[in-house]
Amino acid sequence: MTPTQSHVSMTDRERELGAIIAAYNDVTERLKESHDQLRQQVHRLRLELADKNRELARRERLAALGEMAAGLAHEIRNPLGGIQLFAGLLTKDLADRPRERGLAEKISNGVRTLDGIVTDILAFAGEAEPRLAPVHLGRLIPEALDLAAATFEQWGTQVRWASSEAKDEALMMEADPNQLQRALLNLLQNAADAAGTGGCVEVTASADAQERVHVAVADNGPGIPSELLDRIFNPFFTTKDRGTGLGLAIVHRIIEAHGGSVRATNREQGGAMFSVSLPKRRCGDAALQWEIA
Ligand code: ADP
Repeated sequence: MTPTQSHVSMTDRERELGAIIAAYNDVTERLKESHDQLRQQVHRLRLELADKNRELARRERLAALGEMAAGLAHEIRNPLGGIQLFAGLLTKDLADRPRERGLAEKISNGVRTLDGIVTDILAFAGEAEPRLAPVHLGRLIPEALDLAAATFEQWGTQVRWASSEAKDEALMMEADPNQLQRALLNLLQNAADAAGTGGCVEVTASADAQERVHVAVADNGPGIPSELLDRIFNPFFTTKDRGTGLGLAIVHRIIEAHGGSVRATNREQGGAMFSVSLPKRRCGDAALQWEIA
């Protein structure tokens, strides 16, 4: 072998070796990249799983609590009916004795309050499957505002309702109008309560390109302490002396049953905002005929 030949073949081998090393480095680099990607995916899936597990545990807790509450509510409702009946008879009998009549009326009022609580418990714990019908949010929201008018008057709170799409078809959706009305009413009553005398509540509605509608109820009250944000949707959680803590639990249940979500945040300018996001149609449902009367 001549020195020149040896030099040429060494260079070839070096080139080959270089190519192998380059290919090896390339494969190693790609393996490292896909390893990193897999690790990120595993991390994301772990977080998702933890989220789903938390949600499942929450649903199981709520189902057990709901069953117990519904049983209790039924047991309470029967004797309440009797008390109401007898208090009514007493009120009539005591027509000429105003002091005693006043006491009988207090019993009636107390029973009415308890009956309201029982109704709330049953709404929270009972059958939540929505009865879908075509709903126009541009109409449903003003109706809910009318129903809440007494509360706004009682608190001396102003209310503003704004939607750029109040009249057009963008705010048409499939929903259970009674359930949705109830959810909105609960949010409005809480907002009026929080905003208080001279306060202001703002309701907005919009639709997006992903076939979802968004309703927000904002107030300029004190807002929600950040450490309570996670707990306010829990049933029976209340910071009010005369609260039942069922209003937001009912809202959550209704919105979830419609395949939507509800979120509470504090606004930068002060006050709380509850944001509801709902699909216009529930997946898999046969489409209902939409008509604007
Ligand atoms: P309740 O009104 O009977 O207390 P809810 O479930 O409707 O029950 O509300 C739970 C808690 O969430 C309230 O006691 C209050 O602390 C808080 N909350 C609800 N809405 C608002 C709001 N708009 N601003 C501030 N806090 C609120």
